[in-house]
Amino acid sequence: MLKAYKYRLYPNNRQINMIERTFGCARKVWNLMLADKIAHYNETGKSLTVTPAKYKRMAEYAYLKEVDSLALANVQLDLQDAYKSFFNRIKNGKKAGFPKFKSKKTGRKSYSTNNQKGSVRIENSKIRLPKIGFVKLVYHRPIMENSKIKTVTVSKTPSGKYFVSVLTEYENQILKSIPKTFAGLDFAMHGLFVDSDGRSAGYPNFFRQNEKKLARLYRSFSKTDKNSHNHAKMRLKISRLHEKIANQRNDFLHKTAKNLADRFDCIAVEDISVKAMAKRKKKGSFSFGKSVSDNGWSKFVEMLRCKLAWQGKIFIKVDKWFPSSQLCHNCGFQTDITKDLSVRKWTCPKCGMAHDRDYNAAVNIREEGKRIALAKTQ
Ligand SMILES: [Zn+2]
Repeated sequence: MLKAYKYRLYPNNRQINMIERTFGCARKVWNLMLADKIAHYNETGKSLTVTPAKYKRMAEYAYLKEVDSLALANVQLDLQDAYKSFFNRIKNGKKAGFPKFKSKKTGRKSYSTNNQKGSVRIENSKIRLPKIGFVKLVYHRPIMENSKIKTVTVSKTPSGKYFVSVLTEYENQILKSIPKTFAGLDFAMHGLFVDSDGRSAGYPNFFRQNEKKLARLYRSFSKTDKNSHNHAKMRLKISRLHEKIANQRNDFLHKTAKNLADRFDCIAVEDISVKAMAKRKKKGSFSFGKSVSDNGWSKFVEMLRCKLAWQGKIFIKVDKWFPSSQLCHNCGFQTDITKDLSVRKWTCPKCGMAHDRDYNAAVNIREEGKRIALAKTQ
C-alpha cells in the first residue's frame, strides 16, 4: 500500500540554491524535450522519444549534469504522461490541453526524485536528498514502521515556502475481520455531511469566512503599480491567505475523517457527483449555490477511504440510485414527498414516524452499507 506524507522543509542558503537550480533544470529539460518533440512531429508526422541525456552531452547545457539526474529522468516520465493523457482525452472525445511550455514566472516549482538504496532517508528531523544533503524538516507525522520511501517531490509555494512530499510503500499486515460498528454519511451542502447518529460535521465555510478579507486584498492589489515593491508585497499577501484557507480546510477534513475512521469498522457514503449537483443550478430546479464547489466532499471521501483502508477497515460507496432520502428508515416505506429537495422534515405516511431528511438518509446509507459489507465478509 502507498501512503504519502508532506513536510515543511527549511533548507539553508546553499541548499536553497541547489533546489532552485534543480527546479530550473527540470523546467529547462521539459521545455527542450517538448520543443524537440513538436519539431520532430511537424517535420515527420511521427512522435519522438527523447531523454535528458541528449542535452547533457551538449556543451551549452552542461550545467544539467550538476543537478540530481533522477529529477531530470522524472521530467521525461512526466512529459510522457502528459502526452498520454492528452491523447486519451482526445480519444474519449473530451476537451484536452496539449502539454505546455513551463514559464519561470508562473510555473509550479517542483521536482521529483527516487530513493535508491537509502539515497533518500529521514534521520534526526532531517531528510537526505540526492545532491542536496540533509535538509531540516518539520517531522510532525512519523512515517509508519515497515515502510519504504519510494519517491519524494520537493516543491515551493508561491509564497516562498519549501515542502517535501514523501511517497512510501507499506506492507499492510492488518487482517480483515467482521465489522461490528457501522456509520452512514449523508452529504450536506452546508456542514459537509450528517451522520447516522444525527450529527452534522459542522464544516465551517473557510472560503466565505475569508471572502471579505480576500476581496479587500484584491482591490488594493489592483490599485498598485505593476512594477512596484507594493505590487509584489500584495501578491505575496494574497498567496498567503489562499494558502491559509486551503490549510484550514485540509486540516478540518483530515481530522474529521480520522475521527470517523478510528470510531467505526465500516463507513458508507453516497456516491454523488458534486459536479452534477452544481450544474443543476443552471437548469433552475434548485440552487445549491457556491457552497457545493467550495465544499471539500470528494476530497474528504478520498481521505476517509484511505484512512479506513489503512486500518484494514471497510469503506463503501452506496450506489447513486439507492433512494436514501426516499425510504423511511423505520418501516421501509418509499415516498415521493422527499423528491422535492426543499423538504427538510417529513412524516412517514405508513408508520407515522417524523423524519429529519438528512438524518433519515444517513441511517439508510448506514444500513445499505452494512448489508453490502456483511455480504462481502461472509
Ligand atoms: Zn415509516
